[in-house]
Amino acid sequence: MSLRSAPEPRGLNGTYTRRVIDLRSDTVTRPSETMRSDMASAEVGDDWFGDDPTVNRLQEEAAGLLGTQAALFVASGTMANQIALRIFVRPGHEYVAEARAHVASTEVHSAAANAGIAPRPIHAALGLVAAEQVAEALRPDPYGVRVVDLVCMENTHQAGGGSVLAVETLRGIRKAADEAGVPLYLDGARLFNASAASGTPVGEYAAQAHACMVTLSKGLGAPVGSVLCGDEAFIREARRVRIQLGGGWRQAGILAAAGLVALRDGPARLAEDHANARRLAEGVADASPGAVLPEQVETNIVYVEPGEMGQTAARIVGALEDRGILAGDVGGRVRMVTHLDVSQSDVDAVVRAWREVA
Ligand SMILES: *Cc1c(COP(=O)(O)O)cnc(C)c1O
Repeated sequence: MSLRSAPEPRGLNGTYTRRVIDLRSDTVTRPSETMRSDMASAEVGDDWFGDDPTVNRLQEEAAGLLGTQAALFVASGTMANQIALRIFVRPGHEYVAEARAHVASTEVHSAAANAGIAPRPIHAALGLVAAEQVAEALRPDPYGVRVVDLVCMENTHQAGGGSVLAVETLRGIRKAADEAGVPLYLDGARLFNASAASGTPVGEYAAQAHACMVTLSKGLGAPVGSVLCGDEAFIREARRVRIQLGGGWRQAGILAAAGLVALRDGPARLAEDHANARRLAEGVADASPGAVLPEQVETNIVYVEPGEMGQTAARIVGALEDRGILAGDVGGRVRMVTHLDVSQSDVDAVVRAWREVA
């Protein structure tokens, strides 16, 4: 058997001796001093037995913030989503999701391998699905072959440019799901960004869903982890599936301690990331008119269409890298994400570099 695999990640591997401005993702942040000292002194126990007091505290805090009965700390957003898909969707059945949503793109193979399921995709500009589209996707298959067990929504929508789904829209989607007798799951990897931008408390979004997840290791700045939230029966089942996936862990309080700092201090500073992303988009739009619409940048993600500049994403990303700036080439677009390790003066430096590159 030949084991074909993806290429090795390139990694920075100490290539950069000068400081880089890393806009590849909001996952690249380093834990703060407060996080590191709380991690060092965290009280821990064996979480497999439910013994870890710091994990338990994180789960209680998260459930409190999201307004759910219970929560489960897991290694990644992908693990949270995969556990939820396994619980809600029977093998051979489908889940409705926007076509570029994480669960319908990056995770499509995980869902196939872990749960034997496939997405029924809906296409929406900026990823912002309308309730009518969901209702349409939930209409029974006349041949009685394709059955939908779940509706998944993503907020903010990453590939849609960090776009915010309004809680009124989510309410309409919930209504459509209720009418079809199908539960609603919310991938809230960046739900705190949605909340910071819209002013809607995270609990109001979560209240529309039967379960949801939030990621601690993105804008909130923790080194590792996500939290899956739902009612007690769902979380009990989630704990079992987590073990099946190899995700049961032990003295995870070391990580939960950082998660607690992320939940406490992270949300309040997201507005700064959003202001920086808008400033970046305005600078880029000024240098490359039409390549990005700054008014569409609501949160911390900026996508630029290089075709508008007669360029390719690969060339722009390479030219920025030569100037100590890391951006992403994501599906032929240039992606730049702001986070707590990117300052306003960094943004201004990126805009100056962009002018040279463009
Ligand atoms: C990043 C992301 C995930 C996955 O989180 P990981 O911790 O990287 O596994 C899931 N959904 C969305 C919308 C994301 O942006």
